[in-house]
Amino acid sequence: MPGALITGVTGQDGTYLSRRLLELGYEVHGLVRPGDAADVTSGVSAHPCDLRDSAELRRLVFELEPQEIYNLGGQTSVASSWDDPLATLETSGTPVGVLLEAAWELQEKRGEPVRVVQASSAEIFGHATETPQNEQTPIAPISPYGVAKALGHFLVGTYRQRGLHASSVILYNHESPLRPPSFVTRKITRGAARIAQGLDSSLALGNLDAQRDWGWAPDYVEAMRLAAGHDTADDYVIGTGVSHSVRDFVEAAFRASGIDDWERYVDIDPEFVRPADPAVQLADSSKARDVLGWAPTVTFDELVKRMVEADLSA
Ligand code: GDP
Repeated sequence: MPGALITGVTGQDGTYLSRRLLELGYEVHGLVRPGDAADVTSGVSAHPCDLRDSAELRRLVFELEPQEIYNLGGQTSVASSWDDPLATLETSGTPVGVLLEAAWELQEKRGEPVRVVQASSAEIFGHATETPQNEQTPIAPISPYGVAKALGHFLVGTYRQRGLHASSVILYNHESPLRPPSFVTRKITRGAARIAQGLDSSLALGNLDAQRDWGWAPDYVEAMRLAAGHDTADDYVIGTGVSHSVRDFVEAAFRASGIDDWERYVDIDPEFVRPADPAVQLADSSKARDVLGWAPTVTFDELVKRMVEADLSA
C-alpha cells in the first residue's frame, strides 16, 4: 500500500486529496495544526505539527517514510498574508525547503524514490507580463503570499535538478463548497444565499474588476496526483483557461440565488481592497493537458451553481 503524507490535510484541497488517495488504497498521513485534528477525513492518520517547527516536520518525514509528499499547508490567503508577512514566509515558504531536504535524505537512506508535489500558485506571477500565463512566464510576485510561494517553487526546481521527483503545480484559483468565506467566491455565494433567504441585507466587497481563472477544486487535486504519478517530475500551470471578473461571479451567484438586481445589495468597502492585486489571471494549461492528460471538468456557471446550492441548503 503506497503511503502519502499531506500537509494542510484539513483544508479544502487536503480534504479532497485525502478522500481521493484513500479511494485509491493509499495509507494517508496528514499534518494538522495542533488543535485541528477533529476535522480530519476519516481514515487519515492525523499528526499534529506546526509547520514552523522544522525539527518536528523533519522527524515526521523520517518516522512515516512516505512514498509521496503533498505540501498543501501554510497561509492560504493572499489578503491575510499582508497582516503577517513573516508568518507567511515561515509557514508557506521555509517548510518547502525542510520537506524537500527531508525527502531527499529519506530517498538516499532507503534507496527508493520519494515524490514531492508542491501546491504553488498563480500569485507567483504577480502582475503577469503575459496573458495567459504558462510555465515560462516570469516569476515576479507582488504579495508576501506570492513571495513565499515563489520561494517554494524555486526550491522544488533546485531539488528536481538534484535528482528528487519534485513537481510544482502552479494552481489558479480553485473553489468548492469547502472554500472558507475568507475567499471571495464563498463570501459571495454565502452572502447571496443569505440575502435571498432574508438573513442579510447587504454584502461588502473590494475590487470587482479583478479577473480570476476559477476552477473546481477536486480537478486541481487530480492534477497533483497525476503530477506525482508521472514518470518525470516537472512544473505545471493548472487552470481552466477561462477567466471572469469578480463582478461576473457576483452576478452569476445572485442570479443562481434568484436575485437579478445584485447592485442593490453589494457595497464596496476599501477594507477589502488590497495593497497590490493582480488584475488578470489566466492559465495556459497546455502542458498539463498534453503531458498529464489533465483537463478541468466543471465550467464557471456550474461551479457557481454548485456553491450557491450548497449555501442555500446550509
Ligand atoms: P486569491 O486570488 O487567492 O487572493 O483569492 P480571493 O478569493 O481571496 O480573491 C480573489 C480576487 O477577489 C482578488 O482579486 C481580490 O482582490 C478580489 N476581491 C474583491 N472583493 C473581495 C473580498 O471581499 N474578499 C476577498 N477575499 N477578495 C476580494
